[in-house]
Amino acid sequence: MERRDCDAMVLFGVTGDLAYRKIMPALYQLARRNVLTVPVVGVARQGWNLQQLTARVAESLKTFVPNADPAVVQRLIALLRYVDGDYNDRATFQALRSALGEAQRPLHYLAVPPSMFAVVVQHLSETGNTQGARVVVEKPFGHDLASARALNECLHRHFPEASIFRIDHYLGKEAVQNLLYFRFANSFLEPVWNRNFVSSVQVTMAESIGIAGRGRFYEETGAIRDVIQNHLLQIVALLTLEPPTLAEGEALRDEKVKVLRATRPLDPRELLRGQYRGYRDEEGVAADSTVETYAALALHIDSWRWSGVPFYLRAGKRLPVTATEVVVELRRPPADVFGSHGPELPNYLRFRLGPDVAIALGAHTKRPGPVMAGRDVELFVAQQQGEDMDAYEVLISAALIGDTAHFAREDEVEAAWRIVDPVLRGAAPPGEYQQGTWGPANAEDLIKGPCGWHNPGAHAPDWTRSCAR
Ligand code: NAP
Repeated sequence: MERRDCDAMVLFGVTGDLAYRKIMPALYQLARRNVLTVPVVGVARQGWNLQQLTARVAESLKTFVPNADPAVVQRLIALLRYVDGDYNDRATFQALRSALGEAQRPLHYLAVPPSMFAVVVQHLSETGNTQGARVVVEKPFGHDLASARALNECLHRHFPEASIFRIDHYLGKEAVQNLLYFRFANSFLEPVWNRNFVSSVQVTMAESIGIAGRGRFYEETGAIRDVIQNHLLQIVALLTLEPPTLAEGEALRDEKVKVLRATRPLDPRELLRGQYRGYRDEEGVAADSTVETYAALALHIDSWRWSGVPFYLRAGKRLPVTATEVVVELRRPPADVFGSHGPELPNYLRFRLGPDVAIALGAHTKRPGPVMAGRDVELFVAQQQGEDMDAYEVLISAALIGDTAHFAREDEVEAAWRIVDPVLRGAAPPGEYQQGTWGPANAEDLIKGPCGWHNPGAHAPDWTRSCAR
C-alpha cells in the first residue's frame, strides 16, 4: 500500500450527534497516540466561532473520555480551526479553501445527513477542494440498490474510488477484524471451514434497547437496512471469503465482493419480520407503521465452499440481551459410538463480537463416573472484556494514511444491496413480539436443523434447549 498521509482533516457536521459522541473522542485518542497532528477544521452553520467549537469538544471529552489527559486535550484544541456557513452556500467552501491554507491533501469527513452528500461534494469540487483530497462518507449508502448506485455515481464525478472511504464502523471493530485474523493466521481451521464440515452458521445481533428516541430515522430504515445490509453481511463476508493474498488494500475487498456476488438475493419466503409491541407508540413512529424492528432470514451462498450450508441471520431491538454472536455449527461425528449417551449439541465455533469479545470452541468430554456419558464444554481460544480501541479511532487513522482495506468499496456496497433488494418492498406486515423476548414465536420455523436458534446470553451462551438428536 502506498502511504500518503493527509495534511488536514475537515469535519462537516461538527455540531451533530455523531461528531459529539464518536468522532471527537476518537480524535482525542488519535492525538494521544500522536497519530493526529494535522489541523482539524470544523464546518457548521450555527454561527459559532472557534471558542464555541473548542467548548463543544471539551464537553464531548468530559462525557466520553472522563480521564482525558489535559495535555492531550490542549494538543487537540491547538489543532482546531472553524469555518461557519451553510453547505448550500458556495461561499462556505471558498472560506474553507482559505482556512486550509497550504494543505494539499485534506480528508473531508461528511458527518452529515445523506441528503447533503451530493451538495457538499459538488461544492468541494467547484471550489478546488477535491484535488489530492479524500472523502469519508457515513452510512447509509443509499436506501436500496438503485439509490446506492446513484450515490456512487455522484461521488465518482468528483472523487476517484481510491479516495472514497465509506464507513461501516463494524469494519473497524477489533472483534470483527479478529474474524479475519483467526481464519487466516491459523492452519487448523481451513480443512473444516467448508460445506463438508460446517452444517450451518448463525449470526445474531441482539439489542436490548429500542430505537432510543430516533423514531423518525428508524421509520425510514428498519432492521434490514439499518444493520443487516451492512454490518451482518460484512460479518458473513469475512466468515466466508476465500483467502486474500494480503489482508490489506484491494486484495481483501476483491474477495469480499466475490463472495457477496455468489450470495443469492433473499427469498421473501425465507424472511421473517417482527415489530416489538409498543413500537408504534414511540415518538416519530406512524400509528400503522409496518417497519420491522426484528428480522430473521436464511442466506445461501452458491460457491464451491459453501453450497448447501444455510446462513441464518437475525437482528432485533428490545430483545433479552445486547450481544452479537456468530455460531458456526459443525456436522456430527459420522457414527454414534456412545449411543444415547452421545453428545446432544454439535461441535461449534462461537465468535462473540460484542459487547465482550470471545472465540470459543464447543466440544464434549466424558463426565467422570462409570457411564460413558458426556458433558458439553467450551474451550476458550480468546476472551477479553471489550474493545481496546473504538472503531472510529481505527477507521479515522486508516483514512488519514489512505488504507482502504476496512472501508466498503463501491462494488461491495452494491453487491450487498443486491442481496437484500428483493425484500425491501411489499413484504408482509411484521409479526408482533413482546419486548424482552427473542422475536416473533414463529422465528424458530425458519431454522432447518435440530438445534434452533442459539441465543446469546449476557456473557455466555444461553442454550437452554437441548437439541433433538
Ligand atoms: P445530526 O445530528 O443530524 O447532524 C447533522 C449535521 O449536519 C449537523 O451538524 C447539521 O448542522 C449539519 N447540517 C445539515 N445540513 C446542513 C447544512 N445545510 N449546512 C450546514 N450544516 C448542515 O446527524 P448525525 O447523527 O450526526 O449523523 C451524521 C451522519 O452520520 C448521517 O449520515 C448518519 O446517518 C450517520 N451516522 C450517524 C450515527 C450516529 O450514531 N449518530 C451512526 C452511524 C451513522 P446543524 O446542527 O446546524 O443542523
